[in-house]
Amino acid sequence: MADPQTISLAHDPAYVDAFIRGNLPAAAIRRIGFPWSQELVERTLASAGGTLSATEDALHFGWGGTLAGGTHHALYAEGAGFCVFNDIAIAIRNLQRDGRIQRAAVIDLDVHQGDGTAAIFANDPSVFTFSMHGAANFPFRKQESRLDIGLPDGTSDDEYLAQLARALPQVPDFEPDIIYYQSGVDALASDRLGRLSLTPEGLGQRDRMVLESCRKRGIPVVVTLGGGYSEPIERTVEAHAQTFRLCHELSLSGFVTNSPRP
Ligand SMILES: [Zn+2]
Repeated sequence: MADPQTISLAHDPAYVDAFIRGNLPAAAIRRIGFPWSQELVERTLASAGGTLSATEDALHFGWGGTLAGGTHHALYAEGAGFCVFNDIAIAIRNLQRDGRIQRAAVIDLDVHQGDGTAAIFANDPSVFTFSMHGAANFPFRKQESRLDIGLPDGTSDDEYLAQLARALPQVPDFEPDIIYYQSGVDALASDRLGRLSLTPEGLGQRDRMVLESCRKRGIPVVVTLGGGYSEPIERTVEAHAQTFRLCHELSLSGFVTNSPRP
């Protein structure tokens, strides 16, 4: 579990404290979208802790993954859209605090904009935030990432992958020491909330494109989950599993960096 001090590197300490103690105002809880409970606190701290652990794996082995996280709507002093704390922002701030990185990048391909991540790093030129998302989808008031691509409703595999292929080189060109990949699978056509029209195969090509662009340049990558609301839910589960199978396959074929980085 992440501790409150580490979480407070990316969040208002008063917000962190109020959430953990169950003292948030009702309106703030409503914006998060989950009822408050002790179990929610444990889940939230464990989710942020998972991303911190995956970060250590990535720095030592080339990649790390967590079956949680990617809670990208959480802002500095408030949660939103089922996101309490921003695990990716916490992990980056933690590496910065310890002087272990100079630059970081976030590739957020959840169908909803990574607005919390964009806002937290808006004034930090050492963090490149890239979000490709549904232009007409939540959040309706978008924040400004370093690179935003808003896609029209109904975007299908070919157009999606073409846009991604054009944009993606900007991320390794920034020369980040680590890349966070928010691999939400709500761009699937079967998704209740996504409004895009990707196939599972298209989503797999998306993952491969991202992971290979990191691997080619030897940049460690941390993979987190993100949204997924398919009907039936098994399609979401299978899409997430596909992402992690691909990571495993790539690690067998040399994704691992053998020399631990400092
Ligand atoms: Zn989403």
